[in-house]
Amino acid sequence: MTNLREKEYYEALYDKLTVEDCRRVEESVNNNIDFSDAPEEFQGEEGHERGRHVLSGLMLYFKKGEAFRKKSDTIHDWMARDRAKDEQLYKAIQPTEVICLHCGLTMTSKSRELVEREGQERVLFMFKCSNCKRARAIWEGGAEWDPRNPCPKCQTLMEHTDKRVGDVITTTETCPKCKHQESFDFDLGKTYPPEPVDPHFEEDRKKYCLSNEEGMEYVIQQDNIERLLNQIKDEKENKAAYDAAAKIQTLSVAQLQQLLNPILQKAGYINFALGKPEFMRGVAIEFAMQDTKTDRASHESSKFLKKLIEETLKETNWRLMNEGVTYRLGFLSGRLKGVEGEESLLELAKKSLKNIP
Ligand SMILES: [Zn+2]
Ligand SMILES: [Zn+2]
Repeated sequence: MTNLREKEYYEALYDKLTVEDCRRVEESVNNNIDFSDAPEEFQGEEGHERGRHVLSGLMLYFKKGEAFRKKSDTIHDWMARDRAKDEQLYKAIQPTEVICLHCGLTMTSKSRELVEREGQERVLFMFKCSNCKRARAIWEGGAEWDPRNPCPKCQTLMEHTDKRVGDVITTTETCPKCKHQESFDFDLGKTYPPEPVDPHFEEDRKKYCLSNEEGMEYVIQQDNIERLLNQIKDEKENKAAYDAAAKIQTLSVAQLQQLLNPILQKAGYINFALGKPEFMRGVAIEFAMQDTKTDRASHESSKFLKKLIEETLKETNWRLMNEGVTYRLGFLSGRLKGVEGEESLLELAKKSLKNIP
């Protein structure tokens, strides 16, 4: 398999891009900064030097940090892409019984590779005749490779001829319709020198590519700043909720009972009792009581009690739960929910504000 390489290869490739990016930043700071409007301390040759140092330090801080933040995902994507290419190559079904068009013998498969065709990478198989050495290229699925390219002027498929002089093959493409012509050389003897070694790469790699520890420190720091900014923004946008949350009275279960008992009794509800607390996100607790006012109809009594509880608990951390109050033969029951902690109280305040018409 040919595309997927060792992880170190991708890491070096990524770092190379980071190094190039950072070098560009330094270069641009060194060459393009106009200090004419800068404050006094950045004037003069020494001041300029200091200014460049401060500015490039700041810009590189973010450049290096953001490069680190995207590094592992990018490398993961690159490797996944190459792995998918290998898989496509590996899974491609080789055409069978490919015959040499010159001598009619069965040809031998030589290689398979991914080639772009109509904007999509597809597998092209190469076959060779062991007798006459001629070759054929066949796409997965059996279609013959067509070397003709569409004419850039009229889209008609162009005819092409090859002429070899020494090691140079000159291919000329001619459009049969509009006679447009293009030619290009391919030099078999030409060797391509390897990319020159960058003598400062390792040095700059250390300078610009953050280690795991340095990178994580940057990410945590930036995330904290972002969280803080979001909180400030949230506090500004939801000032009313923050103010209301600060005023909420946090009551224990015992305090809740002490608050409700006299108010309920005064309204004609006796034997107020709380059940066993249920711990969820907050605390849910059942309550029950009896209505002593026999002239109150059931729906009237439950409606009145609901309003009374809601009104009484309005500025506390307790709420009547959504199912409301049930009335049966003078016996009323329901559930209360209490929350604690800054975040839950804020959420409660936001919800209460939304419910105010
Ligand atoms: Zn042949
Ligand atoms: Zn043409």
